[in-house]
Amino acid sequence: MAEAVRYVCGGCQMAIEAWSDGNPYYLDDDGIKHYAYHPDHELLDRCIGNDSPHICLACGAEFMVDSLAPETTCPKCGSGDFAATFHLGGQRCPFCKNGVFTPDPNYHCIS
Ligand SMILES: [Zn+2]
Ligand SMILES: [Zn+2]
Repeated sequence: MAEAVRYVCGGCQMAIEAWSDGNPYYLDDDGIKHYAYHPDHELLDRCIGNDSPHICLACGAEFMVDSLAPETTCPKCGSGDFAATFHLGGQRCPFCKNGVFTPDPNYHCIS
């Protein structure tokens, strides 16, 4: 079961949507990464890692962090200040550098 949230910046109204479970993946016999999507539970059971979306709190770049080989810096600006988009609540907005992200209470979505 995946759950989505939306965070809205109180300053510039920038909205970021995130899913709770990222993008689970498995490797095939050739070592190629494939993503498994719901509701393919047979493939999900083979998953060994997870690429989860993160956002850089310095430049606003969105990028994937691989659970098996996690990034420690933003690939765009090199900042170490980034957060998982699903846990963005209370983080400073990188776009206006002024507001803070809060969850949108009217947005709720389950797949
Ligand atoms: Zn903002
Ligand atoms: Zn950055």
